[in-house]
Amino acid sequence: MDNPPPQTPENTDVRYSVIAPVYNEQALCLDLCKQLAAAMDEAGDPYELIIVDDGSDDGTHRLLIEESKSRPELRVVRLSRNFGQEPAVCGGIKLARGRELILIDGDLQDPPTVILDMIAKKRQGYDVVFGKKKKRKEGIFRRLLTQIFYLLMHFFSQIRFPMDAGIFSLMDKEVGEWLTNFPEPNKHVSGLRTYIGFNQGVVEYDRAPRAAGEEKNLYQLIRMGLNAFFAFSMFPLRLVGGALFVVFLWGVGIIIHSLVMLSKSAPDAAVITAHTDFFYVGCLTVFALTFGVMAEYLGRSFEMAKGRPTFIIASVGANGRVERLSVDGKPSDG
Ligand code: UDP
Ligand code: MG
Repeated sequence: MDNPPPQTPENTDVRYSVIAPVYNEQALCLDLCKQLAAAMDEAGDPYELIIVDDGSDDGTHRLLIEESKSRPELRVVRLSRNFGQEPAVCGGIKLARGRELILIDGDLQDPPTVILDMIAKKRQGYDVVFGKKKKRKEGIFRRLLTQIFYLLMHFFSQIRFPMDAGIFSLMDKEVGEWLTNFPEPNKHVSGLRTYIGFNQGVVEYDRAPRAAGEEKNLYQLIRMGLNAFFAFSMFPLRLVGGALFVVFLWGVGIIIHSLVMLSKSAPDAAVITAHTDFFYVGCLTVFALTFGVMAEYLGRSFEMAKGRPTFIIASVGANGRVERLSVDGKPSDG
């Protein structure tokens, strides 16, 4: 056979699967492979690099496949289109064959050398070790937005939301598989990692600036923040519930006040009209807010009810060869 299939999961004994999502990272994806391989060589145990190409439309995929010719430990998972960073990570977990998983951003903002600290920490008996960002070399506006997000999550989320933690982590495979097991379409990896529990340790690290390429734009950042907020908090629903109750009390107050005024010989119609006008405006505002919040949760329930796959793996490449996967995740015949 002149075209041997890519390495199959069964024929290797991989300890670590390093999973990094990339989207249009042609400027740094080769450097990523190099730095990850250097760190993992130093760790000394058998590993594989799973770079998940999240539907890039630049030269990322071509470069990675080319690189895989000289890096037998590299597997290039390609999603059928751009699904987003977190679905891409889940795609990588799905195909990982290591006993332990390392999740890391693919833009070198999470320094690969920190993996060695995580491995050392995990040996102290943790099931999960995650990175906590000490310093962020990002613009002041982004840092401000991120801090507001973490504060909101800290006070209003249903879990003890980890401050300054992203996907960067090392965990046992059994723990990592839980991440792909949640039915929700918008999976916030660091939040779900906390939700999953087990024995978790922390390694602090300095987050590097992006070496090249483009970071998430503001719209993507806000969308991701809102997704996480609505996925882990019922606070907006409680807030509008509280506001509706206040409106109810206000209405009762107006009725009582009007009755008292009307019982007088010369009721001041202008005051009653002004009260009711304010009341109508207040009601409309609270109702609009309520519908808005309910629509948000309803939309998310609808997304979940559809049960669509959150990512689709189109192909897996290794040793310079690309193999398409069929719907059941097996190499397709054709
Ligand atoms: N990424 C991805 N799909 C996307 C957007 C980003 O796989 O739709 C990858 C990106 O290439 C990078 C990582 O996810 O390796 C983090 O993305 P980014 O740097 O944009 O996010 P931030 O650092 O702002 O969290
Ligand atoms: Mg980044």
